Amino acid sequence: MTRKPGDLLVKSIACLRRKPGRSTDPGLGQSGLGQSGLGQSDHSLHRKLWIGTGIVTVCTIVLAMSLLVRSYDDFVTARRNLHDVSDYGQLLETANLLSAERGPTNGVLGEEASVDSASRQRLAQFRRASDAALAQLTGHARTPAASDHLHVPPAILDRVLQQLTRARAEVDRLGAMPLQDRRLAEIQHAIESMFAVVDLLQPAIGWKVQRLIERDASLAGPVLIGQMLGDLREYGGRIASQIMAPIAARQPLALANLIDFSRTRGRLLELWQLVGRQTNSAADPRLADVRHTAEQQFFGQGLTMLDDLVQEGRRSGDYSMTPAELTARFVPTLRPLEQLRRGFLDQTIEQVSADRDRALRTLAATAGLTTAILAILAGLIVSAQRFVFRPLLLARNMVIALAEDRDVTPSADPSRAREMNRLFDAIEVLRGKLRERAVLTGQLKLLAETDGLTGLLNRGALERIGETDAAYQGLGGDICLILMDIDHFKQVNDRHGHLVGDQVLTDVAGLVRSVLRPGDIVARFGGEEIAILVAGDDIDAAAGLAKRMRLALQQHDIVVASGGRLAVTASFGVARGRRGKQAWHHLIEAADAALYRAKSDGRNRVRCAPRSLAVVPQAIDAPLPEQPRPREIRR
Ligand code: GH3
Ligand code: MG
Ligand code: MG
Repeated sequence: MTRKPGDLLVKSIACLRRKPGRSTDPGLGQSGLGQSGLGQSDHSLHRKLWIGTGIVTVCTIVLAMSLLVRSYDDFVTARRNLHDVSDYGQLLETANLLSAERGPTNGVLGEEASVDSASRQRLAQFRRASDAALAQLTGHARTPAASDHLHVPPAILDRVLQQLTRARAEVDRLGAMPLQDRRLAEIQHAIESMFAVVDLLQPAIGWKVQRLIERDASLAGPVLIGQMLGDLREYGGRIASQIMAPIAARQPLALANLIDFSRTRGRLLELWQLVGRQTNSAADPRLADVRHTAEQQFFGQGLTMLDDLVQEGRRSGDYSMTPAELTARFVPTLRPLEQLRRGFLDQTIEQVSADRDRALRTLAATAGLTTAILAILAGLIVSAQRFVFRPLLLARNMVIALAEDRDVTPSADPSRAREMNRLFDAIEVLRGKLRERAVLTGQLKLLAETDGLTGLLNRGALERIGETDAAYQGLGGDICLILMDIDHFKQVNDRHGHLVGDQVLTDVAGLVRSVLRPGDIVARFGGEEIAILVAGDDIDAAAGLAKRMRLALQQHDIVVASGGRLAVTASFGVARGRRGKQAWHHLIEAADAALYRAKSDGRNRVRCAPRSLAVVPQAIDAPLPEQPRPREIRR
């Protein structure tokens, strides 16, 4: 036997319909199908998706947070480093300005006191520059800044300021004296007082270097090189100042000057060895150029110039240049050293700034990527909800509705996934199959309950109605049964054949049906017997109905196939009773007994069952003489 694909589905649904159980879904009534519904089973795909998505979301957030925290830390460090390195550059610049102030100071100390000299104007200009730088530093140091800002301790700066005031006062005092009255020792002391200013600032630089390296070890290299470049400028200026006093006093160099000079010279060469190599290896070609210029101008021309002066000082106090001339020629050779320090620190700031920008980009990229991943996850959930679970839920409800014989409207949605549309197509096929099955079932039911000849209900259907307590099409518990039997029907068969007998049966059935009311139930009870069920316990009304049927039949002519006419009569037994297995049995018996009496009383009459006799049977219908029926009517 071949099986159609739809059969299995139909069987499954039938099986589902049979399965009893509690439903937790209010939309499912008592069908019990909710037990395996979406989102209710432990193995629900829906729940698994939610759990899976939840885990992925949490993992993404944890991963993203760790990346974000790290990127943010990098960004904060780079931003702070940028600030610190800029601050540090400013500190070195201040030290540089204080060193540079010694140039015009030396010039003033070595020339005649004259208010408007170029050296004095330059000195005033340099002092303003170093005052401004110091004021900025002290301003920063005294600001209650954020805890992550490294400002130089104010006590150090106070000492520097005090020393600067003292040194300048001494320089001004000497500068105001006639040149010949200035003693060498006083000039030397004034110059050393200016050295002391920068020396007092060195702890501030050292303090800052240490803090910066403590905070970020990666800054150690640039910070230390910056410090050494600052020192290079400091000692580069200092070496000239160390021989400035004898030159200003036009006296031979003292041993102390020579020792200081050669010590500083050695130190400068040492520093250059260290720092020059570092700056030489720097990738920036601009810095390499500056380094080359410094080598030529300071270590070449500048130092050679000083060496020559030292030689002159050793021989006699007859120098080839005055302090002002020396300052004017020597100071420009220091500029490449300053440029080297500035250039190096600018490069460091550029690198730190690039680090900060990179950290910011990484931070933004991480945040963006995290947002994108979370948005994709959310989109997936929404899509799964919309394109998978919602259609599945709809499909499930449609299948349940079909299983419960409720019709469903076809669901068409062009935005739905192809797979889902196939599912709904399958449901549509199922719907068609179920509709076909319903039609067939109806037909089968009709066939099973209908008498094939007369089209009336058959006896089985009648007995099911009679034996069940449940209401049937307006028929309550109290009923009256009319049993009708065609008189002498055997003779019809005998005389006219079975086909005519069949026709008579069909005709009588039609006549009975035409007399009955819509709520009455009529069935073929046996061969030529018809049963009528009437609602209620009014046996008089039932007997009246039987009488109307009897009279209608009596007055009715049956036209047979041959063209002839026949007239038949029938006898009626009426009984009153109730529905239900036992009661129905008694009711049949009572009606049959009444019918028997109708027959034995002469046929073509109505009799009521004795137990239900509300009226005397004879009163219902007058006895008629026995008739030789059925009779043929002449045309
Ligand atoms: P009474 O007045 O006592 O009822 O006499 P009767 O001849 O009607 O009753 P009886 O029981 O002797 O005969 C009934 C007949 O009905 C016998 C049977 O051949 C006939 N019959 C039963 N079913 C059918 C049917 O479907 N078609 C035809 N043509 N005859 C049938
Ligand atoms: Mg009979
Ligand atoms: Mg009969």
